[in-house]
Amino acid sequence: MKVFLKTYGCQMNERDSEALTGLLQEAGFIISDSPDDADAVLFNTCSVREHAEERIWSNLGQLKKKGPSLSLRINHANKKIIGVIGCMAQNYKDEIFKRAPIVDLVVGPNDLLSVPILIKNIVKEKSRALAVSTMEREQDFYVSNFRENKNHAYVVISEGCSNFCSYCVVPYVRGRLHCRNPQDILDEVKRTIELGIKDVTLLGQNVNSYKFEGIDFVKLLRMVNDMEGLKNFSFLTSHPKDVSKELFPMMRDLEKIKKSLHLPVQSGSDRILKMMNRGYAVSHYRKLAEEYRKTVGGLLSTDVIIGFPSETEEDFKKTCGLFKEIQFDSAYIFKYSSRPHTEAQNLSDSVSVEEKEKRHKILLDLQKNISKNKRCPK
Ligand code: SF4
Repeated sequence: MKVFLKTYGCQMNERDSEALTGLLQEAGFIISDSPDDADAVLFNTCSVREHAEERIWSNLGQLKKKGPSLSLRINHANKKIIGVIGCMAQNYKDEIFKRAPIVDLVVGPNDLLSVPILIKNIVKEKSRALAVSTMEREQDFYVSNFRENKNHAYVVISEGCSNFCSYCVVPYVRGRLHCRNPQDILDEVKRTIELGIKDVTLLGQNVNSYKFEGIDFVKLLRMVNDMEGLKNFSFLTSHPKDVSKELFPMMRDLEKIKKSLHLPVQSGSDRILKMMNRGYAVSHYRKLAEEYRKTVGGLLSTDVIIGFPSETEEDFKKTCGLFKEIQFDSAYIFKYSSRPHTEAQNLSDSVSVEEKEKRHKILLDLQKNISKNKRCPK
């Protein structure tokens, strides 16, 4: 059977699709690069913003319009299998079958290991399949050596998150923080090195809170740095409230670690940070940025959300002020989008779409200028 797998969303989804591709190949499937000649079409989905989900609903609508070649209403004979996997599958579960009857397979991020067998079951039993139960992933999911990129590899060190920032859907779709056994992580890094890949990024929703039987994040960084044959590595994503005091000296001293830090600030207003349940104040973030610059002196990038419920002009000015002060090398600037299950969903989304657009453009232009001036100082 031929399978077409389309990936949406973050680096974690990219790594999930890569690992799943390897498992599908080992289960005898052929990976197709076009949905048209595939027997199964899988969408690995993202739920971090409404827009990301809208795209999938419209894709499914498009597929439905394709009519008979995909018709399946009564039986599943000789038709394409349509699968929605990843965060949206966990977010909506069997509701997806109701909203998009064209779908046969719904599998959450922590159940992806079962995708190959579920596809075979759908063909054999001509029935739909739903797997959205497990809130902790089996480590066999990472066994395949398949790698999309021959020069760089993502290696997951932890899945899920227990921080419950009030706007974030991740803990509800990927579960609470689950840290992988360091031996499994080192084995995976070793396998990538043996494949000739000498550059890896350690991946987690919040890598700083990594802990496994006495091995914390900083110890893990040292263990990865000692890996023979590894040329360089980095990590993604950090959380200001969990950055330990050992981290920056470690980043300075480890020869293979890239001198770049992605540290999401999310807002320059303490009032908004509190409502976001971020667990730190702007003063703490400012101190971290200063210390990082003094100790490591590398690149510093961030994420920020504008238009969070009740964000005033004053709050927004504080975010712009912080950007002018810290001078990030780059920043991802997002418009707030209310997410199901989250705390913030109960807050009125008071900042209008126009106002969000306006603030988004202001901050984007400000950051563009900062990045340009840093690249070519006058
Ligand atoms: S740290 Fe906050 S924003 Fe990041 S994944 Fe966890 S809950 Fe979401």
